[in-house]
Amino acid sequence: MNRPILVINSGSSSIKYCLYSTDLKCLDRGQIDRLGGQPTLTSRRDGEAHSRELHAGTSHAQALEQLLDELMASEAQTDHLAVGHRVVHGGSDFSAPVTIDDSVLQRLQAIVPLAPLHQPYNLAAIGAIRDIYPDTPQVACFDTAFHANIGKPATQFGLPARYHDAGVRRYGFHGLSYEYIATRLADTDPQLAAGRVIAAHLGNGASLCALHGGQSVDTSMGFSTLEGLMMGTRCGRLDPGALLYMQASMGMDVEAVTALLYHESGLKGVSGISHDMRDLETSDAPQTREAIDLYVYRILAELGALAVGLQGIDGLVFTGGIGENSAHIRRRVSECLGWLGAELDEAANERNARVISTAGSRIKLCVIPTDEEGMIARHTRERLNHPEELKDTRT
Ligand code: AMP
Repeated sequence: MNRPILVINSGSSSIKYCLYSTDLKCLDRGQIDRLGGQPTLTSRRDGEAHSRELHAGTSHAQALEQLLDELMASEAQTDHLAVGHRVVHGGSDFSAPVTIDDSVLQRLQAIVPLAPLHQPYNLAAIGAIRDIYPDTPQVACFDTAFHANIGKPATQFGLPARYHDAGVRRYGFHGLSYEYIATRLADTDPQLAAGRVIAAHLGNGASLCALHGGQSVDTSMGFSTLEGLMMGTRCGRLDPGALLYMQASMGMDVEAVTALLYHESGLKGVSGISHDMRDLETSDAPQTREAIDLYVYRILAELGALAVGLQGIDGLVFTGGIGENSAHIRRRVSECLGWLGAELDEAANERNARVISTAGSRIKLCVIPTDEEGMIARHTRERLNHPEELKDTRT
């Protein structure tokens, strides 16, 4: 029996959700924002937005309980619903979605130090739902899993081997988004999907993924979600020597450096104005130009590295809030790939068309809206219907 599926993406101050029917149609999606302060629940059902405030100080667990109570009262029976979670890190253990049980939860707890800013909130949501509805099946879907087959040397740092063995290696993230892109490409453009494609997930978080025949072979994020591209508030590539200097000579402790790198850097830090690309694109302040220049420069630098690794590039796919909507960023990136034979169709780019390159372009330039929630819903369905076949965890 197929169940309705609730997809949960639980973060430090927000919980995003999406409720799917038994035939995987999205019935309701929304989010609870500003947890820890004055939380607001915003939902979008049948195209209409509804918003209301929850009690100040509502905890994650209380917010989830309210959300589930409401969804179950309106839509689904408690004993029928299944829940799929976005879990940022599967470590070296989990290379596929997994049904939650006590032992899985324990192993996921052990991975918390690898993603201390995200994983605890992901696991707290799983724990809260287990407490309230112990019989509701839950599945964890990992942002790292799609990259699990990337081999050395792409997963290595130039450190003594024992560090790699202890988990200090490159993992990669945004895997659910890239998996969706690879699947969508295979459906809509099998010829391109079989080739060498770089997917650019450009949202508040941002990374690139090199796909060969639909498989991830390298990606710009590494051990943490800091590496690679410059993002909304995260720094992207940074010389580790700068970290040592900040700590040894600038009086910054781990907490201060963490806050700087995750929350005060990127577009926000460089522009001093906003982390939001829309604000920067509409501002005349010179610092916004500098932030956008650096944003594009970093994309090109990482793209170059991945393209060389792939030994060529047949297609470039833009996705994420910026990739899907910013004609300006896509133009800036595409124009710099002219020497590789990329040719942008300006009109198609302006209207966010699915293919934004000319017929004669040697690199196919595409825009594909991502759907990480949909991917989680599909995985949750598959995992529950075929628990054994998909039980693929590396140890
Ligand atoms: P995401 O994390 O995928 O939701 O993406 C958020 C980013 O997408 C923010 O930087 C937004 O400013 C950016 N974004 C959304 N819509 C647009 C738009 N129309 N033009 C430029 N950037 C946009």
